[in-house]
Amino acid sequence: MRKGIMSSRPTTTDVILIGAGVMSATLGSLLKELAPEWEIKAFEKLASAGEESSNEWNNAGTGHSALCELNYTSEKSDGSIEISKAIKINEQFQLSRQFWSYLVNSNLIRNPQDFIMPLPHMSLVQGEKNIAFLKNRFKALSNNPLFQGMEFSDEPEKLKEWFPLIMEGRTSNEPIAATKIDSGTDVNFGALTRILFDHLQSKDVEVNYKHSVEDIKRTDDDLWEVKVHDIDNGKIEYHTAKFVFIGGGGGSLHLLQKTGIPQSKHIGGFPVSGQFMVCSNPEVVAQHHAKVYGKAKVGAPPMSVPHLDTRFIDNKKSLLFGPFAGFSPKFLKTGSLLDLVTSVKSDNLLTMLSAGAKELPLTKYLIQQVILSDEKRMEELREFIPNAKSEDWEIVIAGQRVQVIKDTETGGKGTLQFGTEVVTDADGSIAALLGASPGASTAVHVMLEIMERCFPEHLTEWEPKIKEMIPSYGVSLSENPEIYQEIQTFIEQTLGLSEKKELAFS
Ligand SMILES: Cc1cc2nc3c(=O)[nH]c(=O)nc-3n(C[C@H](O)[C@H](O)[C@H](O)COP(=O)(O)OP(=O)(O)OC[C@H]3O[C@@H](n4cnc5c(N)ncnc54)[C@H](O)[C@@H]3O)c2cc1C
Repeated sequence: MRKGIMSSRPTTTDVILIGAGVMSATLGSLLKELAPEWEIKAFEKLASAGEESSNEWNNAGTGHSALCELNYTSEKSDGSIEISKAIKINEQFQLSRQFWSYLVNSNLIRNPQDFIMPLPHMSLVQGEKNIAFLKNRFKALSNNPLFQGMEFSDEPEKLKEWFPLIMEGRTSNEPIAATKIDSGTDVNFGALTRILFDHLQSKDVEVNYKHSVEDIKRTDDDLWEVKVHDIDNGKIEYHTAKFVFIGGGGGSLHLLQKTGIPQSKHIGGFPVSGQFMVCSNPEVVAQHHAKVYGKAKVGAPPMSVPHLDTRFIDNKKSLLFGPFAGFSPKFLKTGSLLDLVTSVKSDNLLTMLSAGAKELPLTKYLIQQVILSDEKRMEELREFIPNAKSEDWEIVIAGQRVQVIKDTETGGKGTLQFGTEVVTDADGSIAALLGASPGASTAVHVMLEIMERCFPEHLTEWEPKIKEMIPSYGVSLSENPEIYQEIQTFIEQTLGLSEKKELAFS
C-alpha cells in the first residue's frame, strides 16, 4: 500500500515533475488547484520551459478538435462515415479549453491572447472520390452539436473567399471542395507552457532548470528516488517523492525503462522527425487566414497530413506549411544520436524487431521524405499555393515525435501506435506519458486520466473542484447540446475567441 501523500519527512516532496513541457505544466497546475498544500518540484534539463515539442516552432499549434483533420474520420465499408474518434478528440480539447478558461477567469493566468487565437479550420480535397468523402463527412458531423456551423462548398467563387491564396493561379481542372468552421483555434503551446510554469513558480513550486534526471529508483520505504545532474555545477543530487510524473516528452521512454517497473517492459519507441516551411512575407501572409488541412498521401503516416496554417507567434502572423516527416534516431530535438539504439533492451528487442519488419512501408516513406530536395518540397507546397515563390519560404526543424511500439492483441507483436500512452505502475506512484498525438491539445484530458489512475483515493474529495474548473468533467458534451452551448459561451468570452483579434498582429 502506498503511504498517504502528505508526509512529515522534510526531505521528501509530494510530487516530482520531470520535464518542463506542456504536460508537466498542466499536471502541476491541476494539482496546485486540487491539493495546494502539496509540495511539488520540477526538473528540466534545458534552460527554460517549453523548449522541446511544446515550443511554438516545434509543433503546428493546432487546437486539435477534428474540425479539419480528415484522419480522425474514416469511411466505413458501406460508405458511411465513422465519427466516433472525431467526437472523442473534440470532447478532449473542450476539457483543455475549460481549464484554460478557469485559469484566466480566476486571474491565475492573464492574457489568453498570448497563447490562443480564434482561427477558421478548413479541410481541402481534390478529385470526385475525395469530394464525395468530404461531403459525407460534412453531413455526418453537421448533425453533432460539437461541429455546429460547419459549411461545405465546391464552388470556386466561395472557395476564393475562404482561401484566396490557395485558389489563385490554380489551373488544374480537377474538382476541388472544402469545409470551413469558424470555431477553430491556433494555440501557442510554448507560450502556454511558459505561462503555466511562471504561475507554478508563483505558487512556490520549485522549478529547477538545467537539471537533468539521470535515474529513478524505488526506495526501501516505497518512495521514488530521482538522481539529478545539476548541469551548471556538475553535481549530482538525490530527491525523493511519493509520486513522480515522467513528462520528459521523447525522453520519457528511457526514464521509464530506468524505473524497472513491469509496465515499462516490452515497449519501444520509433522517432519521427518533422520539418515545416515558414513564410514571413507580410504580403503573402495577409492573404491567408485559416488552418487548411489536406488528405495524407497514400502510404504516409497520419501525422504527416499536409496543412497550411496561419500562426500567431511573438505578436506576428506567419504561415506554416508541412509537416515533412523524416528520420533521425534522436528522441528529443536536443537528444543524442544514440537514443534509438540505447532504447533497445532485452525485453523489447523482439517487439522492436517485429515492428521493423512490419513497418517497412513507413521506413521507406520516411527515407523518401528525408531525401526530398528543396524544389520537391516547393512542389508539394505548390499543390496548396500554386504561385508560391521559393524566396518567401524557409525550412524550420520541428520537434521529434516518438511513436510507441508495443505488443497488442489486435496488431500482434511490435505494433506501431500513433496515439498517446499513459503508463503507470500498479500502485499509481509513478506515471509516464509516451507518444505524441493528438498531443498538447489533449493535455488536460490526459492529466485527468493520470490523476484518476494514480490518486483514486482523493477523487471524491477533488470532484467538486474538478467540476468547478472543468464543468463538463464526466459529461458528454455531444449528447448534451444545452450544456455545450452554455460552456461555449463562457469559453469564448473568457478566452476572447469570439472577437476578431488579428488586427493586433502585423
Ligand atoms: C511536428 C509536430 C507537430 C505537432 N503538432 C501538434 C499540434 O498541432 N497540436 C497539438 O496539440 N500537438 C501537436 N504536437 C504534439 C505536441 O507538441 C506534444 O504532444 C507536446 O508538446 C508534448 O508535451 P510534453 O510536455 O510531453 O513534451 P515536451 O514539450 O517535449 O517536454 C518534455 C521536456 O522534458 C525535458 N526532459 C526530457 N528528458 C529529461 C530528463 N532526463 N531530465 C530533465 N528533463 C528532461 C525536455 O527537455 C523537455 O523540455 C506536435 C508535435 C510535433 C513534433
